Amino acid sequence: MPDEVLEVLEPASRRVIVDATLGLGGHTEAMLRASETLEIIAIDRDREAIELAKARLEAFSDRVKYFHANFSDIREVVRKAGRTEVDGILADLGISSLQLDSETRGFSFRFDAPLDMRMDPDSDDETAAELLERLSEQDLANVIYRFGEERHSRRIARRIVERRESGNPVETTGELADLVAGAVRRKPGDRIHPATRTFQALRIAVNREIEILEGFIADSISLLSAGGRLAVITFHSLEDRVVKQSMQKAAGRCFCPPKFPKCVCGMTEQVAILTRKPTIPSEEEISENPRARSAKLRACQKKQAV
Ligand SMILES: [Zn+2]
Repeated sequence: MPDEVLEVLEPASRRVIVDATLGLGGHTEAMLRASETLEIIAIDRDREAIELAKARLEAFSDRVKYFHANFSDIREVVRKAGRTEVDGILADLGISSLQLDSETRGFSFRFDAPLDMRMDPDSDDETAAELLERLSEQDLANVIYRFGEERHSRRIARRIVERRESGNPVETTGELADLVAGAVRRKPGDRIHPATRTFQALRIAVNREIEILEGFIADSISLLSAGGRLAVITFHSLEDRVVKQSMQKAAGRCFCPPKFPKCVCGMTEQVAILTRKPTIPSEEEISENPRARSAKLRACQKKQAV
């Protein structure tokens, strides 16, 4: 959605924009071409992508600063770039592992392996097996429902806890896949394995993917100058919902349960939402790149300081 990004971020009238997911530099190139003075702070977690983008953007080398980091490190990167605020931020979450999981049959349980699921196996973080040991039945059901969008979350959680209480906890991918398949009836014509949604949920919980995305949006909004804009492109319904709700929260919408006598969610009105409904790619773009079909762009604008 290169044109839509330019429309929202208006690079011609900005001094500094962060491209938090540089990739091969397509968005950054379009923004640099739209302005003669704009500077870009470019972030990517893949060194190889940075080298390729550098070559592509050689003509603009005096206006781009490159940082090998994760998009969630945006606060630290902006500080290292010598800035306290920026006028625009773009994150294109690309084809994430979430998206790949829903497209394939869930490669993660094709082979029986220990239930780990940590992106960084050297970290001290809890594994999926440890998570299944620790969480209450209610919490397990919530994780599977929220992060997996799985309607049968309660039944699956019940079975996991039953096995745990019988002294035979679920410890491998194969065991979990079988357990879920036994708990959820597979509808005829279902293309995906019944355990796909549960595996997605556990991987998100283990790697705190939602907290990381929520943190990125909160950090980004606090880094924007008055009138500055944040644009986020997602390719998965769960990620889109997180972006939507995080922006709504920053726009002053209260997320407290209705029965609460007063607001405790800490809402403040920091931004205005620019996209009531997410912007989606044109038919033309979709026909050129079928994977763009699920792309959604949401944007918000920082309010003037009060
Ligand atoms: Zn509230």
